[in-house]
Amino acid sequence: MKILVAVKRVIDHNIKVRVKADGSGVELTNVKMAINPFDEIAVEEAVRLKEAGKADEVVVVSIGDAHSQETLRSAMAMGADRAILVQKPSDLVLEPLDIARLLQQVVVSEQPDLILLGKQAIDNDCNQTGQMLAALLKCGQATFASLIEIDGTSLQVTREIDGGLETLTLSLPAVVTTDLRLNEPRYATLPNIMKAKKKPLEVRDISALDFTPLGQVKTLMVTEPKKRTGQCTLFNDVKALVSELQAKEVI
Ligand code: AMP
Repeated sequence: MKILVAVKRVIDHNIKVRVKADGSGVELTNVKMAINPFDEIAVEEAVRLKEAGKADEVVVVSIGDAHSQETLRSAMAMGADRAILVQKPSDLVLEPLDIARLLQQVVVSEQPDLILLGKQAIDNDCNQTGQMLAALLKCGQATFASLIEIDGTSLQVTREIDGGLETLTLSLPAVVTTDLRLNEPRYATLPNIMKAKKKPLEVRDISALDFTPLGQVKTLMVTEPKKRTGQCTLFNDVKALVSELQAKEVI
């Protein structure tokens, strides 16, 4: 059983994102970057499956500029065995279908049994790549996974849906995207960070691949959210809050 995990380098979720003055995007200069939180959950799940003896190898893949090597090293410090970077120029903007097409090429060369992605990247909030990749590969998909169980060649996934949980069985290979409650990712230990520096990281230059960006989606403008103007009122007890809400006919 080989598991391929797609990881994206994004702005660290603790950082307040600033929009560029010209509205062309968000400021990335000197900003702390990190592995996309849902992808960290995907790496954790793959490593746990390996530790439980259900998987033999965990390979992580990222599409990004040379800095994405750091992201891949972080994933290897968590326990992934090796990494692939599909390296692109920093100024080349790719849409989710492009990312899915590039991941498809990696899947074809790696032949994994299970492909894990985050449910969404927190920088663009697209929530598209996993679904598109499954469609391109013509394999089953389970999105928003909160529990993954492997039994021989079949996979059982519990998904978080409106008002409850849904459990699916899929045959392998399959694409699964991770939700927040799947697990709590570990912190990499210093010895594992050191070990990760020596793990194999293969760089595939995008220019050497059979790939032309689609260029179907263009960002016109990025703006800051409106500042909150509402005043905050503190109530001493719940009774006072309830009577205020009743007076305003909110409840
Ligand atoms: P999105 O559809 O952009 O919200 O991304 C969903 C998931 O696709 C992410 O959580 C990642 O697992 C994967 N993904 C998106 N972009 C990349 C990328 N540049 N490199 C590797 N994986 C990616």
